[in-house]
Amino acid sequence: MGQQMGNVVLFMGVGESLEERCFPLPQELEPGAILVKTTMATVCGSDVHSWRGRRPFPAPTVLGHEGLGTIVQLGPSVRTDTAGHSLSEGDRITWSIMANCGCCSFCRIYDLPQKCLSLFKYGHAHSDVPPHFAGTFGEYVYVRPGTSVFRIPDDMCDEEASPLMCAAATVTAGLARIGLQPGENVVIQGAGMLGIYAAAIAKEQGAGQVVMVDVLDKRLEIASEFGSDHVINAGQYDDEEVVLKVNNLTGGRGADVVVEVTGFASVIPLGVKMLRIGGRYLMQGALYPDDNFMLASHDVITKCLTITGLHNYDSRYLGRALDLVYRSRHRYPYKRLAGPAFPLTAQGVTAALESLETHEGMRPIVKP
Ligand SMILES: [Zn+2]
Ligand SMILES: [Zn+2]
Repeated sequence: MGQQMGNVVLFMGVGESLEERCFPLPQELEPGAILVKTTMATVCGSDVHSWRGRRPFPAPTVLGHEGLGTIVQLGPSVRTDTAGHSLSEGDRITWSIMANCGCCSFCRIYDLPQKCLSLFKYGHAHSDVPPHFAGTFGEYVYVRPGTSVFRIPDDMCDEEASPLMCAAATVTAGLARIGLQPGENVVIQGAGMLGIYAAAIAKEQGAGQVVMVDVLDKRLEIASEFGSDHVINAGQYDDEEVVLKVNNLTGGRGADVVVEVTGFASVIPLGVKMLRIGGRYLMQGALYPDDNFMLASHDVITKCLTITGLHNYDSRYLGRALDLVYRSRHRYPYKRLAGPAFPLTAQGVTAALESLETHEGMRPIVKP
């Protein structure tokens, strides 16, 4: 029998067309590795930003860092997932956005495994060398040693599971980082996929008022179905009016916590103005180079504000996001967030990226 092969769609560099390529599957797995057949991938906003060149990015690369798949082969020594559930061939799993070493200073001392000195990130790595299958826009993914893996419950559908890997896990980690307490009022800037999850997950964790701010009514309508008590279209008011609205919704004090998940630094000064005295601001979206903002240092100091950033997540938050979304899936229509679906071809992935860019789809699907 000849070598088994798998298809991928490769990003070839900014301005280049995507290309389909067929690579040989690994013949042997390392201890700790898992070979997965992708059942579904979803497109994240950062795939679009990488594709459009908003940040330095390697090529050729299999993009895609959200998805799930069924286990084709377990490497030596893999018996359970990270939560301790037994694993066998055919099980559906999702896995952390990165593999980390577990021994460097960032893994062991600074509690930032996502900054591991030998970090590997799915959908962000050169893919022209074996094991090639480094992103979810491929028929297979080689899940590397050092990756956290979680079995998907049988009664959770692919659409609910696919966006856990980036969107849901990232905001779950963010809300933990900013120390959200039950009863606290939260403003979320950006009703994209991260914002929608942030609202639902904040609510599941006992948040008081959740206020969603965006400039697209279409996205705000969706947000109202996911735990947002109030929505504000910031495009229809000037900044002072938006701050006044937030104050009115939060007992005249301002928000306890504001979360930025827009991807644009220009929204940050307005978000900071919405905070109460002693409030906390979390930046998670505006991570692209040369995107800057100006703040009144007077406000930051005299209002005793905390301003925090978080990039990616510690894998434990993927497990927590899976639990939270699984438990609340009858309250929030998560599965409707995924779509429309496109085939795993160069044309299909291009259309999927465009679908997110034009806001046609909240989470376009790439289906092998
Ligand atoms: Zn490390
Ligand atoms: Zn992402």
